[in-house]
Amino acid sequence: MKDKLDFYINGQWVQSESSETIEVINPANEKIIGHVAAGTKEDINKAVIAASNAFQTFQYSSKDDRIELLNNIIAEYENRYQDFVDTITEEMGSPIWLSSAAQAKTGIKNINETLDALKEYAFEKAEGDYILIKEPIGVVGMITPWNWPMNQITTKVSAALAAGCTMVLKPSEISPYCGMLLAEVFDKAGVPDGIFNLVNGYGPIVGAALSEHKDVAMMSFTGSTRAGIAVAQASATSVKRVHQELGGKSSNIILDDVADLEKSVKGGAGHCFLNSGQSCNAPTKMLVSSKNYDQAVEVAALTAKNTTVGDPHGEFRIGPIANKVQYEKILRLIELGIEEGATLVAGGVEKPEGCDQGYYVQPTVFANVTTDMTIANEEIFGPVLCIIKYETEDEAIAIANDTEYGLAGYIQGEKVHAHEVAKKIRAGQVIINGGARGTGAPFGGYKSSGNGREHGRHGLEECLETKAVIAP
Ligand code: NAD
Repeated sequence: MKDKLDFYINGQWVQSESSETIEVINPANEKIIGHVAAGTKEDINKAVIAASNAFQTFQYSSKDDRIELLNNIIAEYENRYQDFVDTITEEMGSPIWLSSAAQAKTGIKNINETLDALKEYAFEKAEGDYILIKEPIGVVGMITPWNWPMNQITTKVSAALAAGCTMVLKPSEISPYCGMLLAEVFDKAGVPDGIFNLVNGYGPIVGAALSEHKDVAMMSFTGSTRAGIAVAQASATSVKRVHQELGGKSSNIILDDVADLEKSVKGGAGHCFLNSGQSCNAPTKMLVSSKNYDQAVEVAALTAKNTTVGDPHGEFRIGPIANKVQYEKILRLIELGIEEGATLVAGGVEKPEGCDQGYYVQPTVFANVTTDMTIANEEIFGPVLCIIKYETEDEAIAIANDTEYGLAGYIQGEKVHAHEVAKKIRAGQVIINGGARGTGAPFGGYKSSGNGREHGRHGLEECLETKAVIAP
């Protein structure tokens, strides 16, 4: 049993104020892996005091000092790489191949892109008749989810550290061990005491205590829109900055001049199913013209049937859903899709073959989805693709924008044409013809998908205050 009941505060592993524990479940077999402590307001207070004290000196650290720290962290992260891979797979069910090729790797990529941004960043420059100075905002509180745990944690902690901020992280209680592993990395990398602190626990208790703490200057939150609103509300009384990366319901428009329809549909469906559909920016609504519709449905259904599901340690494309609550939500939404009249062309609510234990869901495709259906609007966060028919390009753009979210958009078509359509999509990132998410490209949403941007220079600037020094 992997019981890790201490918190990392002021460079020490310390006992929680509480004796309450949280079970950590392996979603591949529903067995308890171990426990973490369910922190309290007092634990958060101790961590914030440590971070506030450390800020008194760390805010004046040089760029070279921070570059050295980030380099040391990368080196130690690389030393523990396989531990990250194994931990992510065990606690959230990502297949080993994905944990290795993407989930753990994104940590190194994120820290490197922050490092590149830091090297080039001018914290002070003359502008007009004043000097513009960018200074660390202070203690940053961070709350992260379970779906791409190291991606979300590393983009936040590297940006804060590069800015000269100190921090308190509350990782998801569903996947807490990889955040604890990162604390070990920081410790070994020689990050001075109090700069990075970690407290585990439930969102409405420790997440709320962090958000409302008067000595936290900024909250950086990734998770559901529901919890993001709660964090903003709790933060309001102390007028802190709130950065939110929230949910999404992103469209993938297949234009009529797409070079290879089959390849684009297969790629789009495969992207939707990746990580068992648990990506906030997944292309979950495929919009196809009536001319190409039937062929697209056929290709997407075949892609779903060819997407293997099973034990994350086996040779399967996708693993289980990360937790029971999410698993049950997905099944409920699949049932609702059937009830509301969408045509199920692949998958469904039955467990995939050979997956009797664990939270496994079949890759599922719905055709004849209309814009009024629940599955066309609600974030499912599972391997479920909705295919919607459009008659004109303007209609496709209107459908893509007819959502409370605005995190990402996808377009497949002739390059110049696709760029024109991209300008009309109300989302923080638009990806054309299956391009990879760019290194250092800003990531974040319009509308209910959040506020602010992460990665590279954009993430660094979120953690900075702006000062103008004006003198005769
Ligand atoms: P969640 O909102 O339930 O939990 C996320 C984190 O918030 C957890 O650490 C949780 O403990 C904490 N939390 C919950 N309630 C809270 C409260 N009242 N106050 C403070 N903290 C609270 O989300 P989840 O189920 O872990 O993650 C899935 C959601 O996250 C999806 O909606 C997904 O789209 C979103 N997400 C967004 C991004 C992005 O970058 N935009 C990335 C990944 C996930």
